[in-house]
Amino acid sequence: MTRVVVFTTGGTIASRYDADVDGFVPVVSGDDLVAAVPGVQVAAEVEVVELANVSSTFLTPTLVFEWCRTVGKRLADPEVCGVVVTHGTDTLEESAYLFDLVLDTHKPIVFTGAMRTSSELISDGPRNILTSVRVAADPEAAGLGVLVVLNEEIHAARDVTKTHAEALDAFQSPNLGPLGRISRGWGEDHIRLYRAPRCREHITTDRIEPAVAYVKTVMGTDSLMIDAAVTAGARGMVIEAFGGGEVTPFMADGIDRARRAGVEVAVCSRALRGRPLDLYAEIGEGKWLRDHGVHFSDSLTGPKTRIKLMLALGAADPADVGQYF
Ligand code: GLU
Repeated sequence: MTRVVVFTTGGTIASRYDADVDGFVPVVSGDDLVAAVPGVQVAAEVEVVELANVSSTFLTPTLVFEWCRTVGKRLADPEVCGVVVTHGTDTLEESAYLFDLVLDTHKPIVFTGAMRTSSELISDGPRNILTSVRVAADPEAAGLGVLVVLNEEIHAARDVTKTHAEALDAFQSPNLGPLGRISRGWGEDHIRLYRAPRCREHITTDRIEPAVAYVKTVMGTDSLMIDAAVTAGARGMVIEAFGGGEVTPFMADGIDRARRAGVEVAVCSRALRGRPLDLYAEIGEGKWLRDHGVHFSDSLTGPKTRIKLMLALGAADPADVGQYF
């Protein structure tokens, strides 16, 4: 028998209708959440640890970094073959990617959540917990980094993003697709893994820098938010650039000022797929950004670029942050 530890944190998966507030709230305890999953103790010997019971909108990178260390310590126990983390879906992809960058382990770590509460007619929570425990207990899932399992699909934490506000198939990997899926079978599911991620990264750090701002580029954006963030003490800044990796010329002075103030700036693309490029040379375009020491995030989404920059700033002097990009 294999031991899987399920860490619960709240979110829709732990929510039910509360008549007093006339809405959904996370109130289902970790033990009750797992006890409601038929067959889960057959899939593995399951231990439950409730880290919190909150909406994931309440989380901070600093808190998730602490959880990451707690989970890492439990994973060091040779009796534990893998872990599952249940999480609200709003920030699930950021926490999963933070764990992916920080935890240096071969053991499977699986994040899951739900798009429907247990008060709704068809809740995806129990099925997502069961399939996640199965993946966490499967030696085939070892060494793939942090995985995200929802709706019978297995995704890499680096690639997955929530693409729909309410659909059951909200979690997708738009650039590269899922790594595999959980296929139905007589009596038990079959875990089908089709590919392994090749571009896994690791950041060794004992701290995370919280002061990283986030600015989105839209038509006509100026330097107002960039300057405000620098004045407020930002140590890093993620700029979600236009699709090809360009910002507006009106942001250029602000970026220049930020760089001179020692702020590390990273750009990602606001397009759903692809990566920012340094091919265009006009002011604010990719080549100009590169020449101003701005880091390029490859195909990471903006929120994940921010997590990576926060960890990189925690790990290294600002001058050495470029090695992570
Ligand atoms: N906003 C809540 C959260 O992220 C509910 C969303 C969900 O879990 O699907 O925890």
